[in-house]
Amino acid sequence: MKITAVRAHVLEAPIADRFAFSQTWVDRRVGLVVEIETDAGITGWGDGYGPPWALATVIERYYAPRLIGRSPLAGDALWEELYNGLRDHGQRGVPVQALSAIDIALWDLRGKVLGVPVHVLMGGPIRSTVRAYATGLYRRSDDRAENHRLLADEARGYIDAGFTAMKTKVGFGFDDDIALVEMLRRSIGDGIELFVDANHGCDRVQATRLARAMEPFDIGWFEEPVEPEDVEGYAELRTRTSIPIAGGECSFTRHDFRRILEMRAMDVIQPDTASCGGLTEAKRIADMAWAHGTRYNPHVWGTGIGLAAAMQLLAVLPTTVPAFGAHQPLLEYDSTPHPFRQDLLVEPVLVEDGIAHVPDGPGLGVEIRRDVLDRWRVN
Ligand SMILES: [Mg+2]
Repeated sequence: MKITAVRAHVLEAPIADRFAFSQTWVDRRVGLVVEIETDAGITGWGDGYGPPWALATVIERYYAPRLIGRSPLAGDALWEELYNGLRDHGQRGVPVQALSAIDIALWDLRGKVLGVPVHVLMGGPIRSTVRAYATGLYRRSDDRAENHRLLADEARGYIDAGFTAMKTKVGFGFDDDIALVEMLRRSIGDGIELFVDANHGCDRVQATRLARAMEPFDIGWFEEPVEPEDVEGYAELRTRTSIPIAGGECSFTRHDFRRILEMRAMDVIQPDTASCGGLTEAKRIADMAWAHGTRYNPHVWGTGIGLAAAMQLLAVLPTTVPAFGAHQPLLEYDSTPHPFRQDLLVEPVLVEDGIAHVPDGPGLGVEIRRDVLDRWRVN
């Protein structure tokens, strides 16, 4: 069997209700979907998390020529070859994100060729359901009272839908952040887990002050407090607050995570499967995290294909300790407006009563709706 075509689809859709995190307002959703065809008539699909036009260029100009005519079954060999091909110029960022999309599509292909889900190829499943937390509660209005009213409603909506955990955004300034966290904890009560995410919008001084002030509100983790390059800052912050420190969605491959893990910089690492190097690299990072006693909860922010890939990984993430009360990994379930996230799939990834079900069809376990792909495609 040989690869005959590699296509990168750039998707973009405006959203009616914009929302903000610490860096900017979001008024459109974008996506990068890769499609790999073979002479056996089997197609694999992947998702890349990053600037889609840049990813498409790397995929079509650099990776596709190396893949045409090759067997899709040689996953590790192709990974090494593509990585080494741009290694001198791209050990992080766009080249690795583009490689991630290719790698996910190759796993999808291999599963479909062999007639089994990816998680079976990876030695699982260890679990077939995963507790999901709702990622939402972004800023929706610059008027504090209005914003609090909207977010209190949104949080109640997640509880009504069965979620037992959710995440909000900080990094808007100390007073705003503390007022928001206090309001949300009061609104949702004590039984619901609450995470906060600054999207590296604080410096070390701001992050330390905010972390200490949030301690009374039972925060499950403080995500990306400082910039991803400042691994020492993460390690330092861990010693200054009782709130667990999380991060890693802007870090890449086993090399970045080796440093993070060896420096004990984070309590929870969050590699994005569609960005850190694909399922191949995510599994390697997960095994390293296990050896370092560090939690792994994948970052998820893409199309339903990226969501399905994350579910395949979550099915095989190890339970780190053998105990009835052992911590289990969580699914980050993006609950913000998105016109094609799950619409892209013939059967959406099922998330019901706050529990996500691992797709168990061949490959990623999802099929793509070409009409939806064509509707939002801009290249
Ligand atoms: Mg985040």
